[in-house]
Amino acid sequence: MTHLEKAEELLQQQYHCSQALFGAFAGDFGLDLKTAFKVSTCFGGGMRQGGTCGCITAALMVLGMGLGFYDSQDRELEMYGNKKTDEFIQRFREKMDGKVNCREILGKDISVPIEMAEIRQQGLILKTCPSAMSVSIHLLEEMLEEYLKEVAESSIALEDIPENEDMQSLLKRVSKRNRFNRNVNNLLFASKKDIGFIQFDIRKFKIVNDLYGEKFGDEILYFIIRQLRENCSENQFFVNLRSDVFMVVTEYENAQELVEFIQELDERISYYKNVRLQLSYGIYTVEDRNMELRQMEDRAAMARKRAKNNVLTNILFYQEQFKDSLYNRKFIEENMQLAITERQFQMYLQPKYSIAQNVIIGAEALVRWKHPEKGLIYPNQFIPIIEENGFVKKVDYYIWSEACHFIRRCQEEGVDPAPISVNVSRIHLRDDDECIQILSEMIEETGIRKELLELEITETADDQQISNKALRLKEEGFTLLMDDFGSGYSSLNILLETPFDVIKLDKKFMENMMVSRKGRLILEQVVAMANKLELGLLAEGVETKEQIDLLQSIGCDQVQGYYYAKPMPAEDFFALLKEQNALV
Ligand code: C2E
Ligand code: CA
Ligand code: CA
Repeated sequence: MTHLEKAEELLQQQYHCSQALFGAFAGDFGLDLKTAFKVSTCFGGGMRQGGTCGCITAALMVLGMGLGFYDSQDRELEMYGNKKTDEFIQRFREKMDGKVNCREILGKDISVPIEMAEIRQQGLILKTCPSAMSVSIHLLEEMLEEYLKEVAESSIALEDIPENEDMQSLLKRVSKRNRFNRNVNNLLFASKKDIGFIQFDIRKFKIVNDLYGEKFGDEILYFIIRQLRENCSENQFFVNLRSDVFMVVTEYENAQELVEFIQELDERISYYKNVRLQLSYGIYTVEDRNMELRQMEDRAAMARKRAKNNVLTNILFYQEQFKDSLYNRKFIEENMQLAITERQFQMYLQPKYSIAQNVIIGAEALVRWKHPEKGLIYPNQFIPIIEENGFVKKVDYYIWSEACHFIRRCQEEGVDPAPISVNVSRIHLRDDDECIQILSEMIEETGIRKELLELEITETADDQQISNKALRLKEEGFTLLMDDFGSGYSSLNILLETPFDVIKLDKKFMENMMVSRKGRLILEQVVAMANKLELGLLAEGVETKEQIDLLQSIGCDQVQGYYYAKPMPAEDFFALLKEQNALV
């Protein structure tokens, strides 16, 4: 039976048009008729006040259900919903010659008892309402179909969509997500066991699509769905949230069981037709069952994203601090621009020393964010985030400019300026020559000597583009320091490709090397290599006398670290320099 047939049948049985129309769609949302009538009767009551045709009210409810607009937290969906509502009314009006009110359509007012009696007498409902109902249902089906096509195009290209899929089954597809939610809610309500949310996706799925074509990408997704179907038992539910993101909700007895479930699944889906799929899994184990479903999903999503960036494991459990870091991210994104305009960023300088001469030989410029309410915020808390959104460029420009002005001030006040090294985020090296131009302008504007502004660059992997840009900077006459050498990603290859002047040994690298004889040998060789290549060498994060002695014994003279001095406000460093000048 079609929606229209069903609605007409209900109308014949003396139900109001809103009840008949909503009732005709009830089954699509898993609602029984009785509940549907209750809901639509309440809405009908409200509708009477406004006088809008009951078919419209009911149709908008169906539209809302069909499109899933019942999440008041989701602003985007809400706006989309409002747009669709307006669109529906507009199209209805066009089809009904401008009529949208019940009174205009029936020619009488149902809220006036005498007129209502006449309506009954003359059988007006059965004469006029079916046309409004048929227009509404027709429009509804059209709009839902359009929506589903949209969804299908963007994400559900997942399950085989038969060419001429009818409205009913299309609606079923949308209600799949609703069904999943219902099942999960039931599980949360009824299960005596613990419940875990597992969310996973395919690393670099976009690249898989680009490499092998989208059709192949879709095949992979069908394949995963099939495997999930086979792997999930009665009380385990899965849904394909969007594109390559999946979620499984399952009961479990101990955490190990969850990990084993994932490992088993991973074994099944980590290869498709010889293509290796790397999956990242985030797990949220439910503590408070009254929490909104969406929040539980979000937590699993946070863990999944963390797992993606983790080099050691592809399975991570959610931890509370993930949420903190989300708040942190939001705070940073909302406040970073103001921080620039209000000059909340400050340049701290950490002196570099020569061990043998016991004098300052330079400094590294390190940013601090002095927030009026939050106090001092350290770069590790915000640099990674602003590197992602590109804002780090502005912060770097700010610090570079501060460094240039500091050098100029030394020159002006007759203090022997020490070279200041600034950090150059990799982002600058990815795009055009903007950073070269800006650096040149700053140097020209402040009139400082170019060799007094040194650039620290971290290379995390072989990257031709970055090497090329570094080469350009070198050609421009800048001194290049290779930051964080030995921190994990840097390879000796980079030394070959990029003309660095100085290697900065990473703190961790040095610490690791110092604990064993073999490590000390490697360290010694690095020093020897730097000497042979005529590269400067500076050890970072030096904290103890023991480290100083060892470095000195193997011929590394330049150091930076708490042993000598912590990063300090520029003013304090200026005083230190002045003092040193006075001694010489
Ligand atoms: P980095 O460039 O490796 O900077 C050295 C970090 O080690 C600094 O942390 C410094 O305070 C710290 N440090 C120095 N000596 C010691 C020591 O003896 N012991 C210990 N435990 N730590 C020491 P900070 O200032 O928190 O900076 C962290 C990172 O943030 C920097 O690592 C750098 O990658 C980034 N960063 C800082 N300022 C800037 C900036 O202006 N621009 C960009 N792009 N990145 C920056
Ligand atoms: Ca640095
Ligand atoms: Ca470093």
